[in-house]
Amino acid sequence: MEPLCIVSLRRAVVLVMTGKATVLETDGRLLHSEHVSVPLPVVLCLTRYVHVPVRRPVPPTRRTVLQRDNHRCAYCGGGADTVDHVNPRSRGGRHEWTNVVAACVRCNHRKADRLLHEIGWELAFVPRAPRWSVAFGTTSVRSEPLWSQYVVA
Ligand SMILES: [Zn+2]
Repeated sequence: MEPLCIVSLRRAVVLVMTGKATVLETDGRLLHSEHVSVPLPVVLCLTRYVHVPVRRPVPPTRRTVLQRDNHRCAYCGGGADTVDHVNPRSRGGRHEWTNVVAACVRCNHRKADRLLHEIGWELAFVPRAPRWSVAFGTTSVRSEPLWSQYVVA
């Protein structure tokens, strides 16, 4: 199984009612219509396999990098609102997922155009291209905790 997309509650209920999907997670509430009650679906599984063509990668932008790194500075762990090129662009660093991290203004400023080993800093993680949480929007994943086990960052 892999995450496909986010659908509206209305669409989710129709998918379940028509047998096109089964409910994997519900938040415990019931939806009532005149004749039936159905558990409010939070995660569905389609009953038929859908082949998903290769996805277009999510580009690293300020928004998506901050989302991938959970708005935490890669250097000090504080709140981040800028993007830093680990290997600075002025020194040949490329604007790609493996070379960008979220950084706070202070660390970004202190690091400037230096390389990490020159100032004795290191990254706590290896920057990678994100998977689904960014494509879906981390905010929406956070707002629905039951999704987290299906949407791996
Ligand atoms: Zn910082």
